[in-house]
Amino acid sequence: MQESIKSTDAQYVLPTYARQDIAFVSGENARLKDSEGNEYIDFTSGIGVVSVGHANPEMSKAICDQVSKITHISNLYQIPPQAECARRIVQQSGYAMKCFFGNSGAEANEGAIKIARKYGEVDGQVKRYKIITLEHSFHGRTITALKATGQEAMHNYFGPFPDGFVYAKSIDEIEGLIDDHTVAVMIELVQGEGGVQPLDREKVQALASALKAKDVLLMVDEVQTGIYRTGEFLASNLYDIEPDIITLAKGLGGGVPIGVVMTSKTATLGPGDHGSTFGGNYLSTAAANAVLDVLEAYKQSGQLDEAFLYFESELKKVFESYRNLFTEAVGFGMMRGLRVKDAETLARIISGAKTEGVLVLKAGRNTLRFLPPLTISREEMDEGFDRLRRALAAL
Ligand SMILES: *Cc1c(COP(=O)(O)O)cnc(C)c1O
Repeated sequence: MQESIKSTDAQYVLPTYARQDIAFVSGENARLKDSEGNEYIDFTSGIGVVSVGHANPEMSKAICDQVSKITHISNLYQIPPQAECARRIVQQSGYAMKCFFGNSGAEANEGAIKIARKYGEVDGQVKRYKIITLEHSFHGRTITALKATGQEAMHNYFGPFPDGFVYAKSIDEIEGLIDDHTVAVMIELVQGEGGVQPLDREKVQALASALKAKDVLLMVDEVQTGIYRTGEFLASNLYDIEPDIITLAKGLGGGVPIGVVMTSKTATLGPGDHGSTFGGNYLSTAAANAVLDVLEAYKQSGQLDEAFLYFESELKKVFESYRNLFTEAVGFGMMRGLRVKDAETLARIISGAKTEGVLVLKAGRNTLRFLPPLTISREEMDEGFDRLRRALAAL
């Protein structure tokens, strides 16, 4: 790659990322091309974002059509594609909820926390404010979302943090931590950054009913699991639960920044309680509507489930042929992981895969993570797994 790109980045961009020396210039569905002309199969979709693939023609057209008319005007006025996007999200979810639009996962979770905190107030007095989250969770990078994140190593700086976050070691511990000040529990049904860690379905259902009985809100962070990633529209649908608050972001805009908090507590926030300059503007919601068009049709035609089954069976073959490297295969739909025997081997797999032309991710300490575009074709999967096998054979 051009040295000038690297040196400009080094000179002008804050060094918060351990960037690799690749610059991608174009893509088509699950294929990517870098500035040197190398071609890759993308099993990452920009960390679960590019749900309908790179340069999706329907999404490009919807965005171009929209921005040639109007891109942004603020939430002071009616925004037709925002209302339409909310309608579709709510109807697809099957939950009687309403949506608020922001721009990212962290912001969606901030909204969720604000709804819970306001719900916990009685007559303007803070009565209940504590939120229980899980260890190894990830909820975002703003100060509050970072504090909600159950990873002590991420709380070393940036304090003082807001009070009221309590961490449960596992789902079994949550109920025992509830006290008179607890207003909500926030969980990922499949922990993503924490290492593709699905929660047990029966335990989640039992927790959901226990919380309902205590009027403690169940907030599900579906920033990564939402929008068909695990096979159903929401992982909450897959787990057959009815949360009080759900957050979405990554896959919804197909790469255009968007975040949503949706809740059944539709009267908790009123005018002036929350807002966003960019949130839900014409650009992001037109993109999200195109993504939903593509994925709804894909799901309804049976193609999505077919692709999921094929991806799962091919991944399983890789797992079975390399039991010397992998200890466990985890995940649902197209959110999958292979636990690697140690972190050093994982780093070698990821780097070898890149050399062979397939992009894969790390999660947690030792999980090889797969988040391909949901529209990945059979040929793209075959090619990606061939390349991965070559990388594994070369270890
Ligand atoms: C990625 C992620 C976030 C943070 O989203 P941003 O858009 O980076 O703020 C929050 N929660 C979960 C579960 C995530 O995977």
